[in-house]
Parts: sequence; structure tokens; C-alpha cells
Amino acid sequence: MADHAEDLIDYEEEEEETLQPAAAQAGAAAAAGGEAASGTGAAAGESAEASEADKADGKNKGSYVGVHSTSFRDFLMKPELLRAIVDCGFEHPSEVQQETIPAAINGNDVLCQAKSGLGKTAVFVLATLNKITPVPGAVSAIVLCHTRELAYQIKNEYTRFSKYLPDIKTEVFYGGVPIKHDQDILNDKDKCPNIIVGTPGRILALVRERTLRLSSVSSFVIDECDKVLDSIDMRRDVQEIFKATPHNKQVLMFSATLNKENRPICKKFMQDPREIYVDDEAKLTLHGLQQYYVTLPEAGKNRKLNDILDSLEFNQVVIFVKSIQRAKLLNRLLNSCNFSSTCIHSGMQQSERIEIYQQFKNFSKRIMVATDIFGRGIDVERVNIVINYDISEDADSYLHRVGRAGRFGTKGLAITFVATDEDKKVLESVQERFEVNITELPATIDPKTYMTS
Ligand code: ADP
Repeated sequence: MADHAEDLIDYEEEEEETLQPAAAQAGAAAAAGGEAASGTGAAAGESAEASEADKADGKNKGSYVGVHSTSFRDFLMKPELLRAIVDCGFEHPSEVQQETIPAAINGNDVLCQAKSGLGKTAVFVLATLNKITPVPGAVSAIVLCHTRELAYQIKNEYTRFSKYLPDIKTEVFYGGVPIKHDQDILNDKDKCPNIIVGTPGRILALVRERTLRLSSVSSFVIDECDKVLDSIDMRRDVQEIFKATPHNKQVLMFSATLNKENRPICKKFMQDPREIYVDDEAKLTLHGLQQYYVTLPEAGKNRKLNDILDSLEFNQVVIFVKSIQRAKLLNRLLNSCNFSSTCIHSGMQQSERIEIYQQFKNFSKRIMVATDIFGRGIDVERVNIVINYDISEDADSYLHRVGRAGRFGTKGLAITFVATDEDKKVLESVQERFEVNITELPATIDPKTYMTS
């Protein structure tokens, strides 16, 4: 059986072979300070006050439309962006957007922890697009994340929001595809992107061979920042990329989970950041999401899964397993039972992975069997059920996984199989940390309670 840990660091697989051993970069981020932009304008000031008020009255930063309902028009963005926002069907900013967009637009560094699915991506996509005056051949913004599918998804968000800004070009670079493709784009002044989204390994490879020059970068973004900076290897890659950018730039970081140990690590990259945290972890639980568990022996999982898929109504389902091998086997089994299932894991060719992600997003498949590479950040709006066929390693990844259902205030259902004492411990830690009451799966569930009408 393949090692689960491989999934989690998959972004580096190819680059590890092609890169020189990384030079010691331990102090890079600490030394990277300087004159990062910091603003004190009206918008950020108001937002800071709102934040203090929120903290004082313990208000939940997780709802999708805030009490002081603002409009995107209040953010003083480029008119082209406001038009695109209307086209995307966004009516009101979510609370995290209300609080974070003004600070980001104002030039502040921002460290933001907010619930899954409430629009953190739009914060940095809009802020960077608003800031950029594109210069042909110059890269102005760089966005790093931990998986290739997430990088691809973020690039698509840039495409959506830059619809009326045709001079701003965005590209996505990640491992698992020939590097020549990226080199050709970067070497052609007409094609060279102003915004680059990518995974750290490939971006670093391009920086080291000097195909990618980052001397014009004015925005540096890390999505799922706790994950990206968690392991020493990934952090070293990011630090080296960071060092190749100018001192004077804006740094924005986001995640749904950001514990107290990770925050100082993130802040080493930043100058006096606006910090937006959901300090009370209980508030990270999604309101519209019902959560249940099923105690069963390992050997009973397939039968139970079949029963669940037969009896529940669903739009789309993500089923998480703990290894590549189990993903393949379970997907095969579901297909043999005539379910519309596909699977995604790091053992596949990259082009196939993106194709499968796209098919699922397009609703051509109803069930996705996935390893943890699909556990964070991935946004498929029709997913309303998440099943942990194998429970996650820890409480954080549980929260990210179940957050694939119930996106942007919609309803959803999460069911976790508990087969061993270790599984039980993880479930207990989830309930303690996020103060959520996960109960035994009842014999029947009214579809109205987990299907958004
Ligand atoms: P997060 O990064 O916080 O997990 P995403 O940025 O992926 O969340 O957003 C979740 C979903 O909500 C996406 O499909 C996105 O298009 C949608 N969304 C974000 N902001 C808004 C908004 N203000 N109005 C409507 N939909 C939104």
C-alpha cells in the first residue's frame, strides 16, 4: 500500500529530481523584511475598527453575509472588476470579504483565517487584480498553493475576474508536466504572464534556472498557508522564491486553519500584517453542515458505503480514503456497482488529474474518490455530501475535508466511518476542538436538511 505521506507532498515529486539541493535558507524569511507596503487609509482604518468591535463582542466571522451588509461597490475597485463580480453572480461580499478586501486593497499585508467555502480566494484575486498595472513581460504577482488542482482552480478564478482586464495575463505552473511548456511561455514577451499561480517546487525550478524573474513582483500570496509552510522542505522552497522577490511588496496569506504555532511562521514573511482570525475554533464549524459517524468494522465499509449511496439523495459526493491504492480499488468497486464514480490521487499523470478535476466540476461524474490532495481548497459547488471512508489523520484535515460540502452557505452532510480506536480518537479530537456534536448516523435523514433547494 502506498504511503499516505506521499500524497501530501506530491507537489514536489518531479522537482526533487531536477533541482539542485536547496541551499540553507533558514534565515531567509526573517531577513526578508524591509519596507513592505503598509497603508492607513480610510478603508483599512474602518475595517480595523470593525475588527476590534467584532473581537469585543465575540461576533462570528464565519457567516457569509455580514450584519453590516456592504456592497462590492464600497470597495473602490476598478470598474472592470465590479463588472466581472456582477457577471460571477456575487451579490454581497461575505463577512470575511467585507473585512479583508479593504485592507488588502489598501496595500496592507494580511494574514487571514476564515471558514472554508466563504470566499477567501476572491479576496486575493480581486486585491491583486485591482493593484496591477500590467507591464508586458513583467511578473507582478505570485500566488503559491500546495496542490496542482488548487493552483489550476485559482488560475480559473483569475480568468473569471479579469474578464474585462484583457491586458492582465495569468498563467499556472506546476510539476508533473514538461517544464519546457512553462519556459516557452516565460521566454515569449507577448505571452509572459503578469500573475503566476503555482506550486512551490515548479516555481522554484523556474526561478533557479532564471527563466522566471521575480524582480517586479509587488504581491506575494500564499493560499492554504499553514499547509504550504508546515513542512521544512516546502517552507525552504517558499523562502527561496520569496528571496527572489523585491523587499517592497504586499504579502497576503490565507487558510481555514491557522494554529498559534503557525502564525509566527507566517508573520516572518510579513510587515505589520492585518490579522484576521477566528480565534474560537468552535466557530470554524460550518452551520449548514450536518455531521454524523458510523461505527463499523473495516470489512463492513464497502457494504455500508453502497447502502448510503443508494439511500441518500445527492448532487455530488466526495469520498476520502487514506492511500492511492485504496482510492483506485474503491473507485473500481463503485464503477462495477454502476455508480458514476471517478478518482483522483497523486499516483496519476498530471494531465489526467486536471481532466478528472474538470470532469467532476462539470458534473460529468457524481462521485469522486480522493486522497487528501483533494482535501483542501477545492471548490465544487454541487458537492453536498462528504464521506470519510477512512478518517483523516487529524482534526485540521477533517475540517478541511468536510468543508468541501456546504460551500458558501449551502447545506451539506458529512459522514465519517469509524473502524478503529485510533479513528475514535480523531473523531473525539474534532468534537473537542471545534465543539461540534457528531452523532451516530440515523436510519433515515430528510433530504431537505442537507439538499439546498
Ligand atoms: P474559501 O477559499 O474560503 O474556501 P472560495 O474562495 O473557494 O472559499 O469560495 C467558495 C465559493 O463561494 C466559490 O464557489 C466562490 O465562487 C463563491 N463565492 C465567493 N464569494 C462569493 C460572494 N460574495 N457571493 C457569492 N458567491 C461567492
